[in-house]
Amino acid sequence: MLTTRPRGTNDILPNEIDKWQRLEEVLRHVSRLYGYSEIRTPIFEHTELFQRGVGETTDIVEKEMYTFVDRGERSLTLRPEGTASTVRAYVENKLFAGPQPTKLFYLGPMFRYDRPQAGRYRQFHQYGVEVFGSRDPSIDAEVIAMAMDIYTRLGLKNLSVELNSVGCTKCRSVYRKELQKYLEKNKHKLCSTCQARYDRNPMRIFDCKNENCQALIEEAPTIADLLCNECRDHFNKVQEYLKALGIPFHLNPRLVRGLDYYVQTAFEIVAQGIGAQSSIGGGGRYDGLVEQCGGPATPGIGYAMGLERILLTLQKQGVMQEETKNIDVYIATLGEKAHLKGAVLAQQLRNKELLVEYDYLKRSLKAQLKAADRYQASFTIIIGEEELTNNQAVVRKMEDGSQACISFADMEKYLIDNIRKG
Ligand code: AMP
Repeated sequence: MLTTRPRGTNDILPNEIDKWQRLEEVLRHVSRLYGYSEIRTPIFEHTELFQRGVGETTDIVEKEMYTFVDRGERSLTLRPEGTASTVRAYVENKLFAGPQPTKLFYLGPMFRYDRPQAGRYRQFHQYGVEVFGSRDPSIDAEVIAMAMDIYTRLGLKNLSVELNSVGCTKCRSVYRKELQKYLEKNKHKLCSTCQARYDRNPMRIFDCKNENCQALIEEAPTIADLLCNECRDHFNKVQEYLKALGIPFHLNPRLVRGLDYYVQTAFEIVAQGIGAQSSIGGGGRYDGLVEQCGGPATPGIGYAMGLERILLTLQKQGVMQEETKNIDVYIATLGEKAHLKGAVLAQQLRNKELLVEYDYLKRSLKAQLKAADRYQASFTIIIGEEELTNNQAVVRKMEDGSQACISFADMEKYLIDNIRKG
């Protein structure tokens, strides 16, 4: 136990951190371009927030939350997703009183007691955006376009946008009855989970992985046939904007998504050919959620993407290139006094923004030069007793092995000039 991490969690090791940071840089950059500001909310919240905000009948709330009672007898939950917390923060901090729309993004770990497999973890990372204060279909299209912009900049290929409208509370209640009517005579053939869904939230049956349930629902009416005029009009406009923005999409009337709060627009972005965990992002509109969480009636829309899945897809598609690490200067020293001089020189050069490594193991010169090669240093400075006496050191250009004797007084300038040139 002491030497194993909890199931479904990952260590992100130093040799993997570059790709995470590059991904995060793209996310932050695109957020800025589209006018989103970062919000950081707590990792845990009152359990009730997710029960209300995500929805009692969702898989997340029914079986995936990491819930615990703290020493003050409060029920708290590690956040399973980012929208509920962002909505809570929007209401609690009265962000609705500022200029609207409010455009926020978040980036961080989420926790779900999921069955771990490639691309599905118990602690994973999401980037997500939320826009509060606009009902206009242009923003629905823009957030989808923004998500696609991110994937395209990262170099991902073969993606498809699955799009649906799940209607509003009005048309959904009509549809719900239709669906129940359709399934009524076969209700007993559904799996036990779907039998419970039949009464509480029959649309979720579309999400069931059970083949039998899928067969039973195959010919079922879809919400597309029953949208009210307002929802149909909104949906048509979203499509019109997406076409104008040049974003191809695929209408999928069976797309319901796992969270209860969606109304009208629901979408998912799927990467082809990467296996079972192919959803790399998704989102939708949640106009009633702010009100449900105690705020004023405010429309909202957002999406979230899984960073592990993005990295996995980049790797599977062969897009992510390993970045080679290299440093500017390696300082090799021989003898106690030279070692001290090396420490001072390293500090001095780092203050000039150079990437400097130094031998802390007092190894042989040969071993130190080998280390310099491993670091792919541009220059190696060699300081021995004799060099110290003469107040100079040998500077070796690692690329071609050429050497020069440079005085310590000129060292900084010599390296800066040569490294900038290189
Ligand atoms: P959701 O919040 O369920 O809409 O998920 C949004 C995105 O987060 C998905 O498209 C996945 O890319 C990612 N995601 C969701 N659950 C997991 C998980 N257990 N492990 C890794 N990524 C996940």
